[in-house]
Amino acid sequence: MRFGTKVIHAGIKPDSATGAVMTPIYQTSTYHQKSPGEHKGFEYSRSSNPTRKVLEDNIAALENAKYGFCFGSGLAAIDAILKTLKPGDEVLSTNDLYGGSYRLFTKIYEKFSIKFTFVSMSDASTIEQAINKNTKLIWVETPSNPMMNIIDIEAVAAIAKKYRVKLVVDNTFATPYLQNPMDLGADVVMHSLTKYMGGHSDVVMGALACNDQKLAEELYFIQNSSGAICGPQDSFLVLRGIKTLHLRMQRHSENGKKIAHFLYDHPKVDKVYWPGFESHPNHQIAKKQMRDFGGMISFSLKGDRKEDAFKLMSSLSVFTLAESLGGVESLISHPATMTHAAIPKEEREKVGVLDSLIRLSVGVEDSDDLIEDLEQALNKV
Ligand SMILES: *Cc1c(COP(=O)(O)O)cnc(C)c1O
Repeated sequence: MRFGTKVIHAGIKPDSATGAVMTPIYQTSTYHQKSPGEHKGFEYSRSSNPTRKVLEDNIAALENAKYGFCFGSGLAAIDAILKTLKPGDEVLSTNDLYGGSYRLFTKIYEKFSIKFTFVSMSDASTIEQAINKNTKLIWVETPSNPMMNIIDIEAVAAIAKKYRVKLVVDNTFATPYLQNPMDLGADVVMHSLTKYMGGHSDVVMGALACNDQKLAEELYFIQNSSGAICGPQDSFLVLRGIKTLHLRMQRHSENGKKIAHFLYDHPKVDKVYWPGFESHPNHQIAKKQMRDFGGMISFSLKGDRKEDAFKLMSSLSVFTLAESLGGVESLISHPATMTHAAIPKEEREKVGVLDSLIRLSVGVEDSDDLIEDLEQALNKV
Protein backbone atom coordinates (compact mmCIF):
# COMPACT_ATOMS: atom_id res chain seq x y z
CA MET A 1 0.00 0.00 0.00
CA ARG A 2 1.18 3.52 -0.76
CA PHE A 3 1.03 6.31 1.76
CA GLY A 4 -2.22 7.93 0.59
CA THR A 5 -3.97 4.55 0.83
CA LYS A 6 -2.37 3.57 4.14
CA VAL A 7 -3.61 6.68 5.97
CA ILE A 8 -7.18 5.59 5.16
CA HIS A 9 -6.96 1.80 5.29
CA ALA A 10 -3.91 0.47 7.17
CA GLY A 11 -4.98 -1.44 10.28
CA ILE A 12 -8.61 -0.40 9.73
CA LYS A 13 -11.38 -2.87 8.87
CA PRO A 14 -15.15 -2.53 9.05
CA ASP A 15 -16.21 -3.25 12.63
CA SER A 16 -16.57 -7.03 13.07
CA ALA A 17 -19.65 -6.73 15.31
CA THR A 18 -21.74 -4.33 13.20
CA GLY A 19 -20.03 -3.68 9.87
CA ALA A 20 -19.59 0.03 10.74
CA VAL A 21 -17.15 1.48 8.20
CA MET A 22 -15.80 4.05 10.64
CA THR A 23 -13.99 2.63 13.66
CA PRO A 24 -16.48 2.83 16.56
CA ILE A 25 -15.64 4.67 19.77
CA TYR A 26 -15.52 1.78 22.25
CA GLN A 27 -16.36 3.83 25.31
CA THR A 28 -15.92 1.03 27.79
CA SER A 29 -13.48 0.29 30.58
CA THR A 30 -14.11 -3.45 30.76
CA TYR A 31 -15.19 -6.44 28.64
CA HIS A 32 -17.38 -9.47 29.25
CA GLN A 33 -15.61 -12.77 29.84
CA LYS A 34 -17.45 -15.98 29.02
CA SER A 35 -15.63 -17.84 31.75
CA PRO A 36 -12.69 -16.48 33.79
CA GLY A 37 -9.88 -15.65 31.37
CA GLU A 38 -11.95 -16.47 28.27
CA HIS A 39 -12.46 -13.22 26.32
CA LYS A 40 -12.17 -11.71 22.84
CA GLY A 41 -8.73 -10.16 23.32
CA PHE A 42 -9.79 -7.25 25.51
CA GLU A 43 -9.98 -7.34 29.31
CA TYR A 44 -9.57 -3.81 30.60
CA SER A 45 -9.10 -0.58 28.63
CA ARG A 46 -5.82 0.47 30.25
CA SER A 47 -4.31 -2.73 28.83
CA SER A 48 -6.02 -2.43 25.46
CA ASN A 49 -9.05 -0.80 23.88
CA PRO A 50 -10.35 -1.62 20.37
CA THR A 51 -10.46 2.03 19.19
CA ARG A 52 -6.97 2.73 20.49
CA LYS A 53 -5.71 -0.56 19.02
CA VAL A 54 -6.83 0.39 15.51
CA LEU A 55 -5.04 3.74 15.84
CA GLU A 56 -1.89 2.03 17.15
CA ASP A 57 -1.86 -0.36 14.18
CA ASN A 58 -2.48 2.49 11.75
CA ILE A 59 0.38 4.60 13.14
CA ALA A 60 2.75 1.60 13.12
CA ALA A 61 1.92 1.06 9.43
CA LEU A 62 2.49 4.73 8.56
CA GLU A 63 5.92 4.64 10.21
CA ASN A 64 6.83 1.32 8.51
CA ALA A 65 7.05 -0.22 11.99
CA LYS A 66 5.56 -3.40 13.43
CA TYR A 67 4.32 -2.06 16.76
CA GLY A 68 2.52 1.12 17.79
CA PHE A 69 1.59 2.51 21.22
CA CYS A 70 -0.58 5.51 22.03
CA PHE A 71 -0.45 7.70 25.11
CA GLY A 72 -2.32 10.57 26.72
CA SER A 73 0.19 13.12 25.36
CA GLY A 74 3.46 13.34 23.46
CA LEU A 75 5.27 13.82 26.75
CA ALA A 76 3.66 10.68 28.18
CA ALA A 77 5.08 8.81 25.15
CA ILE A 78 8.56 10.27 25.84
CA ASP A 79 8.16 9.39 29.51
CA ALA A 80 7.52 5.75 28.54
CA ILE A 81 10.78 5.58 26.57
CA LEU A 82 12.75 7.09 29.45
CA LYS A 83 11.29 4.44 31.77
CA THR A 84 13.23 1.78 29.83
CA LEU A 85 16.38 3.32 31.41
CA LYS A 86 17.82 2.83 34.88
CA PRO A 87 19.87 5.03 37.25
CA GLY A 88 23.36 5.67 35.85
CA ASP A 89 22.25 5.45 32.23
CA GLU A 90 22.94 8.41 29.97
CA VAL A 91 21.04 10.04 27.12
CA LEU A 92 22.72 12.00 24.39
CA SER A 93 20.25 14.56 23.09
CA THR A 94 20.23 17.24 20.45
CA ASN A 95 20.60 20.66 22.09
CA ASP A 96 17.77 22.26 20.11
CA LEU A 97 14.64 20.46 21.18
CA TYR A 98 11.06 20.88 22.31
CA GLY A 99 11.01 22.78 25.62
CA GLY A 100 8.75 20.23 27.30
CA SER A 101 11.14 17.38 26.43
CA TYR A 102 14.02 19.40 27.91
CA ARG A 103 11.98 20.00 31.08
CA LEU A 104 11.05 16.31 31.43
CA PHE A 105 14.69 15.27 30.94
CA THR A 106 16.31 17.78 33.30
CA LYS A 107 13.67 18.43 35.97
CA ILE A 108 12.25 14.92 36.39
CA TYR A 109 14.61 12.25 35.11
CA GLU A 110 17.85 13.82 36.34
CA LYS A 111 16.38 13.36 39.85
CA PHE A 112 16.44 9.62 39.18
CA SER A 113 20.15 9.76 38.28
CA ILE A 114 19.76 9.57 34.53
CA LYS A 115 22.22 11.91 32.88
CA PHE A 116 21.45 14.02 29.81
CA THR A 117 24.08 15.58 27.58
CA PHE A 118 22.97 18.16 25.03
CA VAL A 119 25.02 18.61 21.88
CA SER A 120 24.53 20.09 18.45
CA MET A 121 23.89 17.27 16.00
CA SER A 122 23.92 19.36 12.84
CA ASP A 123 27.23 17.71 12.04
CA ALA A 124 26.60 14.07 12.90
CA SER A 125 30.31 13.19 12.83
CA THR A 126 30.90 15.26 16.00
CA ILE A 127 28.49 13.29 18.20
CA GLU A 128 30.67 10.19 18.39
CA GLN A 129 33.00 11.84 20.91
CA ALA A 130 30.08 12.53 23.28
CA ILE A 131 29.18 8.82 23.55
CA ASN A 132 30.49 6.83 26.49
CA LYS A 133 29.89 3.37 27.93
CA ASN A 134 26.82 4.57 29.88
CA THR A 135 25.10 6.10 26.85
CA LYS A 136 21.92 4.13 26.21
CA LEU A 137 19.81 6.47 24.08
CA ILE A 138 20.37 9.08 21.41
CA TRP A 139 17.54 11.61 21.17
CA VAL A 140 17.01 13.31 17.83
CA GLU A 141 14.42 15.90 16.81
CA THR A 142 14.50 16.90 13.14
CA PRO A 143 13.46 19.40 11.88
CA SER A 144 14.10 20.91 15.28
CA ASN A 145 11.89 23.25 17.23
CA PRO A 146 12.06 26.20 16.66
CA MET A 147 15.34 26.62 14.72
CA MET A 148 14.51 24.14 11.93
CA ASN A 149 17.91 22.49 12.21
CA ILE A 150 18.20 19.28 10.27
CA ILE A 151 19.94 16.20 11.64
CA ASP A 152 21.12 13.43 9.33
CA ILE A 153 19.11 10.49 10.72
CA GLU A 154 20.96 7.86 8.66
CA ALA A 155 24.36 9.12 9.82
CA VAL A 156 23.30 9.20 13.49
CA ALA A 157 21.75 5.72 13.13
CA ALA A 158 25.08 4.36 11.87
CA ILE A 159 26.83 5.74 14.96
CA ALA A 160 24.08 4.41 17.25
CA LYS A 161 24.46 0.91 15.72
CA LYS A 162 28.24 1.01 16.09
CA TYR A 163 27.97 1.71 19.85
CA ARG A 164 24.80 -0.37 20.39
CA VAL A 165 22.86 2.67 21.55
CA LYS A 166 19.16 3.07 20.76
CA LEU A 167 18.14 5.91 18.49
CA VAL A 168 14.84 7.70 19.10
CA VAL A 169 13.54 10.21 16.59
CA ASP A 170 10.85 12.72 17.54
CA ASN A 171 9.04 12.84 14.19
CA THR A 172 6.36 15.33 15.27
CA PHE A 173 7.40 18.15 12.91
CA ALA A 174 7.92 16.02 9.81
CA THR A 175 5.20 13.35 10.20
CA PRO A 176 5.54 10.03 8.33
CA TYR A 177 4.32 11.82 5.21
CA LEU A 178 7.57 13.79 4.98
CA GLN A 179 10.04 11.45 6.67
CA ASN A 180 10.30 7.81 7.80
CA PRO A 181 12.97 7.47 10.52
CA MET A 182 12.58 3.67 10.82
CA ASP A 183 13.68 3.28 7.19
CA LEU A 184 16.75 5.37 8.01
CA GLY A 185 17.76 3.16 10.96
CA ALA A 186 15.93 4.60 13.99
CA ASP A 187 14.86 2.17 16.75
CA VAL A 188 11.88 4.19 17.98
CA VAL A 189 9.78 6.92 16.40
CA MET A 190 7.95 9.25 18.72
CA HIS A 191 5.01 11.57 17.94
CA SER A 192 3.04 14.26 19.59
CA LEU A 193 -0.23 13.34 17.86
CA THR A 194 -1.51 16.69 19.13
CA LYS A 195 0.16 18.35 16.15
CA TYR A 196 0.03 17.33 12.46
CA MET A 197 -1.19 13.75 12.96
CA GLY A 198 -4.38 14.85 14.73
CA GLY A 199 -4.20 17.97 12.63
CA HIS A 200 -7.23 19.87 13.95
CA SER A 201 -6.04 21.28 17.30
CA ASP A 202 -8.74 19.35 19.15
CA VAL A 203 -6.85 16.65 21.01
CA VAL A 204 -3.67 16.07 23.08
CA MET A 205 -2.07 12.66 22.49
CA GLY A 206 1.21 10.90 21.78
CA ALA A 207 2.56 7.74 20.15
CA LEU A 208 5.58 5.49 19.79
CA ALA A 209 6.41 3.03 17.05
CA CYS A 210 9.16 0.40 16.89
CA ASN A 211 10.17 -2.82 15.14
CA ASP A 212 12.05 -4.77 17.77
CA GLN A 213 9.84 -7.29 19.53
CA LYS A 214 11.69 -7.17 22.86
CA LEU A 215 11.55 -3.39 22.96
CA ALA A 216 7.87 -3.50 22.00
CA GLU A 217 7.15 -5.86 24.90
CA GLU A 218 8.95 -3.51 27.26
CA LEU A 219 7.07 -0.45 25.97
CA TYR A 220 3.76 -2.30 26.23
CA PHE A 221 4.62 -3.32 29.79
CA ILE A 222 5.36 0.33 30.66
CA GLN A 223 2.24 1.62 28.87
CA ASN A 224 0.07 -0.80 30.85
CA SER A 225 1.94 -0.50 34.15
CA SER A 226 2.24 3.30 34.25
CA GLY A 227 -1.17 3.78 32.64
CA ALA A 228 -0.61 7.03 30.72
CA ILE A 229 -3.03 5.92 28.00
CA CYS A 230 -5.43 7.92 25.84
CA GLY A 231 -9.20 7.55 25.72
CA PRO A 232 -11.27 6.00 22.90
CA GLN A 233 -12.90 9.32 21.92
CA ASP A 234 -9.51 10.98 21.43
CA SER A 235 -8.22 7.92 19.56
CA PHE A 236 -11.18 8.24 17.19
CA LEU A 237 -10.40 11.92 16.56
CA VAL A 238 -6.79 11.17 15.66
CA LEU A 239 -7.86 8.28 13.38
CA ARG A 240 -10.18 10.70 11.63
CA GLY A 241 -7.46 13.35 11.40
CA ILE A 242 -4.91 10.95 9.91
CA LYS A 243 -7.23 10.12 6.98
CA THR A 244 -6.34 13.51 5.43
CA LEU A 245 -2.71 13.69 6.61
CA HIS A 246 -1.27 13.43 3.09
CA LEU A 247 -3.60 16.13 1.72
CA ARG A 248 -2.93 18.47 4.61
CA MET A 249 0.84 17.99 4.50
CA GLN A 250 0.89 18.75 0.77
CA ARG A 251 -0.88 22.06 1.37
CA HIS A 252 1.15 22.87 4.51
CA SER A 253 4.29 22.40 2.43
CA GLU A 254 3.02 24.50 -0.51
CA ASN A 255 1.92 27.35 1.74
CA GLY A 256 5.11 27.06 3.80
CA LYS A 257 7.24 27.48 0.69
CA LYS A 258 5.37 30.61 -0.44
CA ILE A 259 5.52 32.22 2.98
CA ALA A 260 9.18 31.38 3.55
CA HIS A 261 10.06 33.15 0.29
CA PHE A 262 7.79 36.12 1.09
CA LEU A 263 9.54 36.59 4.48
CA TYR A 264 12.98 36.11 2.95
CA ASP A 265 12.37 39.05 0.60
CA HIS A 266 10.85 41.35 3.25
CA PRO A 267 13.05 44.30 4.35
CA LYS A 268 12.00 44.12 8.03
CA VAL A 269 12.85 40.45 8.37
CA ASP A 270 16.36 39.46 9.40
CA LYS A 271 16.76 35.68 9.18
CA VAL A 272 14.32 33.04 7.97
CA TYR A 273 14.73 29.44 9.13
CA TRP A 274 13.19 26.91 6.75
CA PRO A 275 14.93 23.74 5.48
CA GLY A 276 13.75 24.30 1.90
CA PHE A 277 16.19 27.16 1.28
CA GLU A 278 19.32 26.15 -0.57
CA SER A 279 21.18 28.41 1.86
CA HIS A 280 19.99 26.32 4.85
CA PRO A 281 23.17 24.68 6.20
CA ASN A 282 21.70 21.15 5.97
CA HIS A 283 19.45 21.65 2.94
CA GLN A 284 21.05 18.70 1.15
CA ILE A 285 20.32 16.37 4.07
CA ALA A 286 16.74 17.67 4.27
CA LYS A 287 16.35 16.94 0.57
CA LYS A 288 17.75 13.46 1.04
CA GLN A 289 15.60 12.38 4.00
CA MET A 290 12.39 14.42 3.54
CA ARG A 291 9.83 14.38 0.73
CA ASP A 292 9.05 18.09 1.14
CA PHE A 293 9.80 20.80 3.70
CA GLY A 294 6.54 21.27 5.62
CA GLY A 295 4.87 24.34 7.04
CA MET A 296 7.04 25.22 10.03
CA ILE A 297 9.04 28.44 9.65
CA SER A 298 10.85 30.65 12.14
CA PHE A 299 12.15 34.16 11.50
CA SER A 300 13.75 37.03 13.37
CA LEU A 301 13.33 40.77 12.87
CA LYS A 302 15.98 43.36 12.04
CA GLY A 303 17.15 45.01 15.28
CA ASP A 304 16.03 41.99 17.38
CA ARG A 305 13.49 43.87 19.52
CA LYS A 306 10.94 41.92 21.53
CA GLU A 307 8.47 44.87 21.27
CA ASP A 308 8.54 44.61 17.46
CA ALA A 309 7.83 40.89 17.62
CA PHE A 310 4.94 41.50 20.04
CA LYS A 311 3.53 44.31 17.86
CA LEU A 312 3.59 42.05 14.80
CA MET A 313 1.97 39.13 16.59
CA SER A 314 -0.86 41.25 18.01
CA SER A 315 -1.57 42.88 14.61
CA LEU A 316 -2.54 39.67 12.80
CA SER A 317 -6.08 38.64 12.00
CA VAL A 318 -5.79 35.32 10.12
CA PHE A 319 -2.88 33.88 12.10
CA THR A 320 -3.82 33.05 15.70
CA LEU A 321 -1.37 33.78 18.49
CA ALA A 322 -1.18 30.45 20.32
CA GLU A 323 1.15 27.65 21.37
CA SER A 324 1.12 24.36 19.50
CA LEU A 325 1.35 23.66 15.77
CA GLY A 326 0.27 21.37 12.99
CA GLY A 327 -3.43 22.24 12.84
CA VAL A 328 -5.35 23.29 9.74
CA GLU A 329 -5.36 26.88 11.03
CA SER A 330 -2.23 29.05 10.92
CA LEU A 331 -0.66 29.76 14.30
CA ILE A 332 2.05 32.18 15.36
CA SER A 333 4.07 32.01 18.55
CA HIS A 334 6.96 33.59 20.40
CA PRO A 335 9.27 30.73 21.48
CA ALA A 336 11.27 32.78 24.04
CA THR A 337 8.18 33.51 26.16
CA MET A 338 5.92 30.61 25.16
CA THR A 339 7.15 27.14 24.15
CA HIS A 340 10.75 27.69 25.29
CA ALA A 341 10.15 29.63 28.52
CA ALA A 342 11.37 26.57 30.47
CA ILE A 343 14.84 26.87 28.89
CA PRO A 344 17.21 29.39 30.58
CA LYS A 345 17.87 32.58 28.53
CA GLU A 346 21.60 31.83 28.01
CA GLU A 347 20.78 28.28 26.85
CA ARG A 348 18.12 29.42 24.41
CA GLU A 349 20.17 32.30 22.97
CA LYS A 350 23.08 29.91 22.40
CA VAL A 351 20.91 27.97 19.96
CA GLY A 352 19.40 31.09 18.32
CA VAL A 353 16.10 31.55 20.16
CA LEU A 354 16.41 35.35 20.26
CA ASP A 355 13.93 37.88 21.64
CA SER A 356 12.53 38.73 18.19
CA LEU A 357 12.31 35.13 16.99
CA ILE A 358 8.83 34.27 15.77
CA ARG A 359 7.59 30.80 14.85
CA LEU A 360 4.88 30.12 12.31
CA SER A 361 2.85 26.99 11.90
CA VAL A 362 1.50 27.66 8.44
CA GLY A 363 -1.98 26.21 8.05
CA VAL A 364 -3.92 25.10 4.99
CA GLU A 365 -5.82 28.35 4.35
CA ASP A 366 -5.53 30.32 1.09
CA SER A 367 -1.89 31.41 0.94
CA ASP A 368 -2.78 34.88 -0.41
CA ASP A 369 -4.75 35.64 2.75
CA LEU A 370 -1.87 34.46 4.91
CA ILE A 371 0.67 36.60 3.04
CA GLU A 372 -1.58 39.70 3.11
CA ASP A 373 -2.03 39.23 6.86
CA LEU A 374 1.72 39.04 7.47
CA GLU A 375 2.37 41.98 5.12
CA GLN A 376 0.02 44.37 6.95
CA ALA A 377 1.37 43.29 10.35
CA LEU A 378 5.01 43.74 9.26
CA ASN A 379 4.12 47.25 8.02
CA LYS A 380 3.06 48.16 11.57
CA VAL A 381 6.45 47.21 13.05
C1 LIG B 1 4.30 19.22 21.26
C2 LIG B 1 5.55 18.47 21.12
C3 LIG B 1 5.91 17.49 22.04
C4 LIG B 1 5.06 17.18 23.27
O1 LIG B 1 3.81 16.68 22.94
P1 LIG B 1 2.47 16.92 23.79
O2 LIG B 1 1.43 16.22 23.01
O3 LIG B 1 2.28 18.39 23.90
O4 LIG B 1 2.72 16.32 25.14
C5 LIG B 1 7.10 16.81 21.83
N1 LIG B 1 7.89 17.09 20.77
C6 LIG B 1 7.57 18.04 19.87
C7 LIG B 1 8.50 18.28 18.73
C8 LIG B 1 6.41 18.76 20.01
O5 LIG B 1 6.12 19.71 19.12
